[in-house]
Amino acid sequence: MRLILLGPPGAGKGTQAKMLTEKYQIPQISTGDILRQAVKDCTSIGQEAKSYMDRGVLVPDQVVIRVIQDRLGKPDCTRGYILDGFPRTVAQAEALGDTLARMGSTLDHVLSIKVEAEELVRRLSGRRTCRSCGEAYHLLYSAPRKDGVCDKCGAALYQRDDDKEETIKRRLQVYQSETAPLISYYQDRGLLREIAGQGEIGEIFERICRVLEK
Ligand code: AMP
Repeated sequence: MRLILLGPPGAGKGTQAKMLTEKYQIPQISTGDILRQAVKDCTSIGQEAKSYMDRGVLVPDQVVIRVIQDRLGKPDCTRGYILDGFPRTVAQAEALGDTLARMGSTLDHVLSIKVEAEELVRRLSGRRTCRSCGEAYHLLYSAPRKDGVCDKCGAALYQRDDDKEETIKRRLQVYQSETAPLISYYQDRGLLREIAGQGEIGEIFERICRVLEK
């Protein structure tokens, strides 16, 4: 199954993608995670991406397209994958279409997860991540047992620079202007399925599974 999870930052794409990888045994491909790792490793892509990410704006299309083409060529993608955070512009969607056509492959579904703006800000500003193992927490919805410490590995939790209030606002604006047009792009191609993204994580997951199994 080849799937795109579309939705604003904070819609729960990463959380749902992780649950889907377990159910369907296919990898989650998050361009945000790949780029954050590249920044940490100080690779040339990481150095190029960092200033854009810190400002909450999109990394140039040609950089992310290269990243994704490289990732889709890996052997674990042969049975399918969940794209989380890619594509984010029409140019990226077109490049993805060309890459898949060259590989003789197509997309099965594009899921658009919808959440109201106020709830997105609440979710993003409470988000915390483990510096060591990457486990995700939320101060309101899934707090760690001990303040600031990862339940799984005991390392310190941190707030992503781009989850601070000013940058959150910028990221939501960027979503509206650059990424939201992909909803009609994929609707026109008959691939779009809408998912209500409010409520319990498990409930949202069930909604997604029902749509995928239809
Ligand atoms: P995310 O973890 O998906 O919220 O991504 C964090 C940041 O990485 C974004 O704010 C962008 O700066 C960058 N990024 C991730 N995916 C993309 C993409 N497909 N196109 C451009 N920039 C991206």
